[in-house]
Amino acid sequence: MKEIENNVEMGWLVKTKGPIRTNQYNHGHIFSGTREYFKQITFPICPACNQENSPIMYIDCSDSRLNNINLWNNNIICIQCHNGCGLKGKYGSPNYCWDYSNPNSPKIMNGNEPENIEGRVPKNWEFEGVEVELIPKVQRTRYRIELETRIGGEPTWIHNPLENKISIHCIICNNPMKMLFQWSETNMDYIPRGIRETAGAIMGNPGINIWYGCKDCKIMAQVVEVG
Ligand SMILES: [Zn+2]
Ligand SMILES: [Zn+2]
Repeated sequence: MKEIENNVEMGWLVKTKGPIRTNQYNHGHIFSGTREYFKQITFPICPACNQENSPIMYIDCSDSRLNNINLWNNNIICIQCHNGCGLKGKYGSPNYCWDYSNPNSPKIMNGNEPENIEGRVPKNWEFEGVEVELIPKVQRTRYRIELETRIGGEPTWIHNPLENKISIHCIICNNPMKMLFQWSETNMDYIPRGIRETAGAIMGNPGINIWYGCKDCKIMAQVVEVG
């Protein structure tokens, strides 16, 4: 039983298998994807670049394997702006916060001023959706930087990898938020390809992206650490 407990604490590795074949969300966990694919979701518009946020990871919380990490009450979608915009914040502060009171219509919350990445023209980035497989993580390791993409577990702070002591607090209740999802392109088996005007591009970010959640307040926050 100890092994199982360890798996639960560490969350689940997300192995990307390949592009999805259907054009509308059916069920299961999906990495990336176009907004059109998730017809049930209304994506908010980024205040910095005026583009809609994009899907990064749709987590199917009806998957009983996720029960013990207790992430959320219903299915959730982690989203972001692909243009690299973010809300200003010092190291360790959320780049974005969303209100998920309506799980199908996340709202970007008011906060500090949004910041544009200089020298980059805003673009409507969209990438194909990818089927994933979840793999239990057997053992935690504090002796190396664990960049893998995963649902649940503890985040990897690339500037402070051996000390998982930085916590992100909910802007409503001020309690520490739980990590929902961590994405790094570094060790993905299949990286989503751009579609339409972004054809030829592959989805990636120079660093690590972490989504945190407060299930009680229905708040999600994204933190990006650039390596
Ligand atoms: Zn933006
Ligand atoms: Zn809260």
